[in-house]
Amino acid sequence: MVEIVKANNVYFTYSQAHSPVLNNISFSVESNTFTTIIGENGSGKSTLAKTIVGLNKPDKGEIQIAGLQLNEENLDQIRANVGMVFQNPDNQFVGATVADDVAFGLENHQVPHNQMEEIVEKYLSLVKMWDYRDRTPETLSGGQKQRVAIASALAYSPKVLILDEASSMLDPKGRKDLLELILELKKTTQTTIISVTHNLSEALVSDRVYLLTKGQINGSGTPQEIFTNRKLIKDNNLELPFIPELIYQLKKQDFPLKKDWMTEEELIEFLW
Ligand code: ADP
Repeated sequence: MVEIVKANNVYFTYSQAHSPVLNNISFSVESNTFTTIIGENGSGKSTLAKTIVGLNKPDKGEIQIAGLQLNEENLDQIRANVGMVFQNPDNQFVGATVADDVAFGLENHQVPHNQMEEIVEKYLSLVKMWDYRDRTPETLSGGQKQRVAIASALAYSPKVLILDEASSMLDPKGRKDLLELILELKKTTQTTIISVTHNLSEALVSDRVYLLTKGQINGSGTPQEIFTNRKLIKDNNLELPFIPELIYQLKKQDFPLKKDWMTEEELIEFLW
């Protein structure tokens, strides 16, 4: 397995603040995996996402993406390897139409004109927005806008896609659709996906979860390892996703469940 993102002892302080928001962060992400970063509001998740892509300059520590050391000389190369999608889809559009928006990113990455149309079609189809290619972005729903933002971010084939609270402005259906899209992207493209999220259902289906507490990594592991650690969940004011919570409550009532961790399908089958 290739470690595509590596952070070693990273510190970051906002200029007007006294104490670091990222306080000795070390972690790594394996290639072609889906990683989630969770934690309470204000724990430093967004700051971490921005620091990984060079939008924040660390006070100290090292960050590597796709084998490249993050520093001022490598910034353009690093950015070519990383796509980023933010919380508010309205702030991410630059094109007059959906298709223009995806093409704009390609122009910035010096993709030859004769390849552009093909790439725009490929990625808008992948996110199921090809039929909307001539629409102006303002006329789309929140979920549709996020899909276009993801197509634009993926169009220049970054190795890593970072989603920063990309589902937080979506309704439950939009969140579910976005999650399905993430899993689809993992399967059909080689993209490594890192999602900073409030949506613990997203963390539940990720390969690895990092839990941030006051700018430090306070837990990391599989969803099972994180979500069966009651103390960790409680201390960080997190609400368990529905299935782990249901399993926990059933076990608490001495319901004869054989395991304390099951997928949704396993639980339904058992209860049936
Ligand atoms: P999270 O994404 O986990 O909610 P953030 O990374 O947004 O957390 O914020 C972590 C801390 O950094 C918070 O205390 C927040 O107030 C502070 N912070 C975030 N952005 C800025 C900024 N641009 N300037 C100063 N402080 C900031």
